[in-house]
Amino acid sequence: MMNRQLPPGEASRLSARVAGPVEAFFVRNIRWLPWVHAVMFVVFVSLILVPALLSDPAENAGPLDHLAVFANLALWGLWFPLLLLSVLATGRSWCGLLCPMGAASEYASKHGLRLSPPRWLTWPGTPVLSFIVVTILGQTTGVRTHPEAAAEIFGGTMAAAIILGWLFAPGKRPWCRHACPIGLLLGVFNRLSIVDFAPKRPEPGGDRWNDKGACPTMIDLKHKTETRHCIECFRCVSPPAPGGLFLRLRRPGEEIEQIAKRNPNLSEVLFLFLGGGVALGGFLWGVMPLFNALRDGIGEWAIDHDVMWLLESGPSWLMSVHPDRREVFLWLDFVMITGFMAATMLAFTVGLSLLTMIASWLAGLAGAKGTLRSRFLELGYQFTPIAMVSLLLGLGGGLFTALKSVGLPPEAVSAMKIALFAGGIIWSLWLAWRILATQNVTGGRSLPALVPGLVGTVAVALAWWPALF
Ligand code: SF4
Ligand code: SF4
Repeated sequence: MMNRQLPPGEASRLSARVAGPVEAFFVRNIRWLPWVHAVMFVVFVSLILVPALLSDPAENAGPLDHLAVFANLALWGLWFPLLLLSVLATGRSWCGLLCPMGAASEYASKHGLRLSPPRWLTWPGTPVLSFIVVTILGQTTGVRTHPEAAAEIFGGTMAAAIILGWLFAPGKRPWCRHACPIGLLLGVFNRLSIVDFAPKRPEPGGDRWNDKGACPTMIDLKHKTETRHCIECFRCVSPPAPGGLFLRLRRPGEEIEQIAKRNPNLSEVLFLFLGGGVALGGFLWGVMPLFNALRDGIGEWAIDHDVMWLLESGPSWLMSVHPDRREVFLWLDFVMITGFMAATMLAFTVGLSLLTMIASWLAGLAGAKGTLRSRFLELGYQFTPIAMVSLLLGLGGGLFTALKSVGLPPEAVSAMKIALFAGGIIWSLWLAWRILATQNVTGGRSLPALVPGLVGTVAVALAWWPALF
């Protein structure tokens, strides 16, 4: 405890009381982690791969009647939404303590070719692209409905994690650091969490990449200021040692309030916009009459102009082809879903970028420090809470379906969703206020620069409205 450099205040007292014992517990028991990973690997195979090999369940089968129904509930009703929620309270504990994909990737890396990660892999846009591709493929193959699609997406992700681990970076997790779409998601939202691993003896100079140290995600420990790549493996923690990192608890959102000093970067901000947009598009196409009208119009055009390939079905790894379940996508559906999601993503990104740009410009007029670009980067993070709520209610919507199926009245579930959105809007606004304060724009002077962000968060909530209620 002597080495802990805690900031003053309530959070530091709580941190000292709670974080110390938690840290000691994990350091003491970290040797069991390979066993945990082995169990998780078996669970992964049972829930992701086995259901695809079984015959279809009866139409009214419940979770206890058929593994495929159970796996679907476990995956989309529990795992994904709870994973997102858990980030706030426990950071990326899933990645460091439980995820079988990351563990398999690291294991492969210890026995692989140990090549240096190539530039295409370390490019900051790689995980953003990976998220977009996986989200679109998930929609066209029906990942939330068909066990074959879940096996393809998650099995493919596992295979990619192992192959990249085997090829690159000795004994590390290049997949987790540079390419995993879930890691990117958890990393951005980890900045909101109450968990931080901080250097006992920090050195100035900002965050760096270092594949020679103890960290599996190649964080240069002494220079660590951001939490996004930290998977909470506890390997850098040794309570009696004078160096290394220590676990501290902090206020939710503290890192984003101080984002100027915590390595803000364009790829994350773009991910908030692009990722939020593509996820929104993935939900809107299923509920918007406009989508069906467009599809019918293009279908008629294809018949009139003899473009018959559009009306044929494609490969089942690319689109949903399940005649037994009365769902067969044509190339027309594939093109429409992909195009609709891409268009929504672009519209969403352009809209939020413009609003953030206007907020940055107004902050400049009010005397904010920094350049227009630096203010844009910092203020872009204000959308993190509303993006998190959107993804929770969208991709994690199975949780609310499950809540209804266990007897919670639909009105109560709707009230929960509205409360979550309201909380996301208020938190986003609060973060904008705090970020502006770090730019030296305080009090009434910050009000004009808050308006574009408020318009953006409310617009995001309204855009999700038809998909969710
Ligand atoms: S980054 Fe991805 S593969 Fe790595 S541990 Fe996290 S979820 Fe698993
Ligand atoms: S910073 Fe420490 S706890 Fe975080 S991933 Fe690296 S070694 Fe693990």
